This record gives sequence, structure tokens and C-alpha cells, in this order.
Amino acid sequence: MIVYTVKCANGHEFEGWFGSSSSFEREVAAGEVPCPTCGSTKIEKAPMAPAVAGTRGPSVPDGCPMSGGSEAPPCAGHCGCFPG
Ligand SMILES: [Zn+2]
Repeated sequence: MIVYTVKCANGHEFEGWFGSSSSFEREVAAGEVPCPTCGSTKIEKAPMAPAVAGTRGPSVPDGCPMSGGSEAPPCAGHCGCFPG
């Protein structure tokens, strides 16, 4: 999974989770990524480096295995990393 910070046509920035960069392109092109603020599906990648899984962010809690820590327990699904 990869997180992109994206921006809608109205300037709302938000994070979207995608399986890969190609999934991002496809889902955006298909209008499957609505802005949570205004619902616009005119989305583009925000002009900043993508936050690959492993970068700390609001979707990846501290200690989550996806954040790179190896000693922490699964995050119980909060970030989707929990295998169960
Ligand atoms: Zn918006």
C-alpha cells in the first residue's frame, strides 16, 4: 500500500491509500477517489513527495508494523496492516 497526498479541484488536500502508483492513476482516472470534503473526483497528486507506507502519518499509528517498528504488536486494523 502507498499513501498519496492528493488535492481536489477545489484545493482540498487529503490522503488516499492505493495499492500502487498504477492503482492510483487508474482509480483517479475512474473517478473512484472522491474528495472527503466536497466529493469532487477531480483529483490530482499534491505537489509533494508521496508518503510511502512506513512514513509516520495519521493513518499509521506509532508502533504499527507498517511504521517500521518490529517490536510493536499489530495495530488491530487501524491502518489495515492487521493480517486478521
Ligand atoms: Zn474537495
